[in-house]
Amino acid sequence: MSAKKIKVHDTTLRDGEQTPGVSLIPDEKLKIAKALDDLGVDIIEAGAAITSEGEQESIKKIANEGLRAEISSFARIVKGDIDAALKCGVDSVFLVSPTSDLHIKYKLGIDRDELLKRTLEAIEYSKDHGLIVDLCAEDGSRSDIDFLKKVLSSAVEYKIDRFTVADTVGIMVPEKIFDILTKLGKSKVPLGIHCHDDLGLATANTLSAVRAGASIVDVAVNGLGERAGNASLEEVVMALKLGYGYELDIRTERIASVSDVVEKLCGIPVPPNKAIVGENAFTHEAGIHVDGILKKAETYEAIKPESVGAKRTFVLGKHVGLKAVKKMLEDEKIPVTDEQLKEVYNQVKYMGDKGKRVTNVDLEAISDSVLGVSPEKAIKVEELLAVAGNTITPTASVKIKINGREVIESSVGTGPVDAALNAIKHATRDVPFELVEYHVDSISGGADAVVKVMVKLKSKDRIITAQAAGTDIVLASVDALVNGLNSIMRRK
Ligand code: MN
Repeated sequence: MSAKKIKVHDTTLRDGEQTPGVSLIPDEKLKIAKALDDLGVDIIEAGAAITSEGEQESIKKIANEGLRAEISSFARIVKGDIDAALKCGVDSVFLVSPTSDLHIKYKLGIDRDELLKRTLEAIEYSKDHGLIVDLCAEDGSRSDIDFLKKVLSSAVEYKIDRFTVADTVGIMVPEKIFDILTKLGKSKVPLGIHCHDDLGLATANTLSAVRAGASIVDVAVNGLGERAGNASLEEVVMALKLGYGYELDIRTERIASVSDVVEKLCGIPVPPNKAIVGENAFTHEAGIHVDGILKKAETYEAIKPESVGAKRTFVLGKHVGLKAVKKMLEDEKIPVTDEQLKEVYNQVKYMGDKGKRVTNVDLEAISDSVLGVSPEKAIKVEELLAVAGNTITPTASVKIKINGREVIESSVGTGPVDAALNAIKHATRDVPFELVEYHVDSISGGADAVVKVMVKLKSKDRIITAQAAGTDIVLASVDALVNGLNSIMRRK
């Protein structure tokens, strides 16, 4: 265990936004900045002020928000970049100086002396204007170590506040990065580390640098960033805490919600098997595991889901065990005898064996048939019309019956599916639910393919999964949603 305190420099809004396909508007950036501030990061790199007018507007908004975190702008060792950062009212600059011969010679077309001169001038200019300066050695991991040391010691004389080594191209392995940080020795300023995941080692390299003396970690939520991404905030933070016992100011129980905000606004889905924040990180299917967890959670959960704001879920499939089915039926408040339980279990296994995902609604249908009951469905769709085209706003109208009462509603949407689901939502506004996930898969090949729609609904504390299939994507989507809603209504 170590008492050393590690600071978190978050670059979701700069390097993370450089993820191919990501571009955020000022209000979205501000929303993410607030979430990061709530999470407790020490430094928010809000963007690169020189990029554009819109970027400056974003950084200004964030800098003026009165957040607790230090607000920083990326800047090259160019006066114009520093001036742009100053215009935004930031606290600091992440001043990037490429120190490898490759970058000095081929990118800038200058020599080491000229680079050092420009770097020191940029530091002096920034300090003269009251900025905190974090000098980042771009491509530092591939730089000549003696030159890197010289840049650091000269920069310290020019009063930099921090020095960051960047493995810009993600080519390091943990031993090499350890070696570099060790060779930089005990610096008079705190050292930072900025790693990329090109070899899948960004987290490992970041931890290794910390072991060698770095005390600031550059990370991005969900591991966003250029190419394969940056070291991911959630992995680095949890590994530092759980693996080494470092102290950080991060409120880890907010990690899941920050990950959600970033996923939604950036539009880059988190892979289901992603550490800490992936959909499957705390999901269990295998019988042996579920049995163990029900006896004592720690048997198969070394990280407590609630410690990162996540929730444990069990799913049904071919690996499921009898005890998990029993637990889920209890959770669904479906009373069964031992014999009936065995039959439900067999049918769940059978469906799983066919390669099908078994949703909550499927479990209900299976147990209904085993129990020989056919409860009346509370919600029935009587009529549905959805229209779309290039000259009209996609619109849908529905006539549904809720416990026999007729309701007619209409709505618009981004397309016919969205419009139809919105119309259903309006018509069922008394039912407490939120659509948290919508998935569509095409089962067969052509334009007449059968599509399978999976929805995940949240109703109070309960998560309900439901699905439906058909050749009409609008009808299949509405069916899946209504199946889920009927499951919620059953409980009322
Ligand atoms: Mn980077």
